[in-house]
Amino acid sequence: MLRVHPVTAFKDNYIWLIGRTGTPKVAAVDPGDARPLLGYCAAHGLEPCVILITHHHRDHAGGVRELLDYYDVPVYGPVHETIPGLTHPLGEGARVTLPEIGLTLQVMELPGHTRAPLSYAGAGMLFCGDTLFTGGCGYLFEGTAAQMHASLTRLAALPGETQVYCGHEYTLENLGFALHVEPDNPDLHARIAAARRLRAQGLPTVPSTLEEERRTNPFLRCHIQQVIDAAEKYAGRRLSRPDQVFAVVRQWKNELDARA
Ligand code: ZN
Ligand code: FE
Repeated sequence: MLRVHPVTAFKDNYIWLIGRTGTPKVAAVDPGDARPLLGYCAAHGLEPCVILITHHHRDHAGGVRELLDYYDVPVYGPVHETIPGLTHPLGEGARVTLPEIGLTLQVMELPGHTRAPLSYAGAGMLFCGDTLFTGGCGYLFEGTAAQMHASLTRLAALPGETQVYCGHEYTLENLGFALHVEPDNPDLHARIAAARRLRAQGLPTVPSTLEEERRTNPFLRCHIQQVIDAAEKYAGRRLSRPDQVFAVVRQWKNELDARA
């Protein structure tokens, strides 16, 4: 049976360890910091056999060099970004086969947060770094709103039961923003209550399911009338395309984040 372990790093990052019952081998996704990962593996008898990187930001790739001092393992990551220690550059349509874990992952190149970040999908799981967040999406640091909207639209088309493993614990903050956009969405209120219960127990709210995201994440709902209406009201103009709605909703959140 596959098992995904969350390792918390920095303030709110997750390093995901993908393992399988009966073997100590794990794939480490986005080890931004080697220390918590080394500690977790020692405590749980796990051993990384591969490193998977979604994008070049330090909080995702910054621990690779130090990990390679302990484990001589391949490092997979985006071909169009600079990743320290990268051994297997990957682009759109690539496939990662991990025989030690019995898992094959499909690679999607999804520009928006950075220039060419990767998401890895397989066995009903999605590792999407800072592209899709639970309840939100990443900042547009290197890509355009149209690119990010297209990237999120691709992710939204994955099966509804897909488990969404993103790179940060941002759910409650994101859903707080979502409430500005869709104050009358009953699924959103239910999700906030459930996420609060988890956080009160110190538990991760990640993973979510893609179905939950499609019902409550405003950035996946730019074709829904209530989201269009809210974005048009905020922008004070008509928005004729979903990517224009996305751009306004992203800007709206940026402005609130800047004030926080
Ligand atoms: Zn990032
Ligand atoms: Fe990040």
